Formats: sequence, C-alpha cells, structure tokens
Amino acid sequence: MNERRKAMQVAALCNGTAIDHIPPSVVFKVVSLLELEKLDNPITIGNNLESKKMASKGIIKITGKYFEESVINKIAIIAPNVVLNIIKDYEVVEKKRVVLPKVINGIVKCNNPKCITNNEPMTTRFEVIDCNNTELRCHYCNIKIQKDEIILK
Ligand SMILES: [Zn+2]
Repeated sequence: MNERRKAMQVAALCNGTAIDHIPPSVVFKVVSLLELEKLDNPITIGNNLESKKMASKGIIKITGKYFEESVINKIAIIAPNVVLNIIKDYEVVEKKRVVLPKVINGIVKCNNPKCITNNEPMTTRFEVIDCNNTELRCHYCNIKIQKDEIILK
C-alpha cells in the first residue's frame, strides 16, 4: 500500500456517520448541537473543503456512532441541506436528509428579552410555523423568529 492510499484509509470511515455538505460557518455549531465534545469516539472535522455543490463545505465524521433521528434533525435548524452518510464496513449503506422538527425544545434562545424563558430557569419551546424558510414562533411569548435571527443557546 503506498503512502497516499494509506492516508485515504485513515480518512475513510469503517463504521459510523459522516455528516456532509455542512456550510463552513456552522460546522462548529453542529459540533456543539450534537454534543460531540462529550463523545469518546474518534471524530474527524474537516472545514472549508472543496465541494462540487457548494463554494466550500465542512464534513464531520464520527466513528462507531449512529444518531437518533430526533437528535440529528436538530441540525436542520442551522443547516437544512446537510446529508448524513451512514457507513458500515466502509460502504455508505444509507443517505439521510435532515428534517426540521415540528417543535424545538431547548436549543434556540428566544429573541424577546421580556420572554419568560429569558427570565426564569426553564426550557425554551418553539413551534416551526414555516419549515421551508425555517420560521419559528415562541410557545410562551408568540414572537416570530426568522431564519437569520435564530440564536442557539
Ligand atoms: Zn419567547
């Protein structure tokens, strides 16, 4: 095996999840959203890589880890076009798209400073009122939050 091929083998995943087509600006938000810092699994994070579909992209590969759909769909809040490659024995066995959940609990901060969720120790809750444009509405104060205004907690 030559050196170049060896390097590719290191980069390839035997078993696990590869999250592809992440916009470079949100790669590290995805890391914290999935709480990857708490895992002991080998993780490879690539960013500002060349992409055929986008100007540039990020990729996160997590060895030996398959996520619950409810967890993975959180990514849709900040990166609706990511593709998840489920890998077994070096083969992509499934490609998954993320789907925005109908209700988002505890990830997004309410933009209304007077909202009870900003003044009491409680979990935020948002209903997704437009899943194509990622528009959210706070369950407690009814303020509407557009995609560009979303602040993650
Ligand atoms: Zn609110």
